[in-house]
Amino acid sequence: MKENLLISACLCGANCKYNGGNNLIKEFQALKDKYNLVYICPEALGDLKHPRCPSEIINSKVYGQDGIDVTKNFIMGAQKSLEICLKNGCKKALLKESSPSCGVHFVYDGTFSHKKIEGMGITAKLLKENNIELYSENDVELLL
Ligand code: SF4
Repeated sequence: MKENLLISACLCGANCKYNGGNNLIKEFQALKDKYNLVYICPEALGDLKHPRCPSEIINSKVYGQDGIDVTKNFIMGAQKSLEICLKNGCKKALLKESSPSCGVHFVYDGTFSHKKIEGMGITAKLLKENNIELYSENDVELLL
């Protein structure tokens, strides 16, 4: 039986990215062959529309580039993502690097100037706190 793998939907071609696009990875089919993919988009689960304003983490809160505080949306998306993860018995998650929700090793620095710093997205952090093994698209070979 295939293992369930939680995965950022944008890595699979879903157009849920803030700009209405996706981040499809070339390994998508190979992942699909090996795992039952369980798709999440924490920002959509947090009732944010796509396209939407880009957001970044500033002092543990999340703001859109328009200055609107969207922390509640990001927390709701993280909680719903964790529920989906646990309900499906996923022990591992493959998440989009650098996103304020999904970033595994890096996030943007909160200045909206394309600078990355070490850190985790809101959903990635919650999953890690619940002992889910996290991978970014840069670690995908480890899953194949
Ligand atoms: Fe992709 Fe995660 Fe952003 Fe959704 S929240 S578009 S899954 S990086």
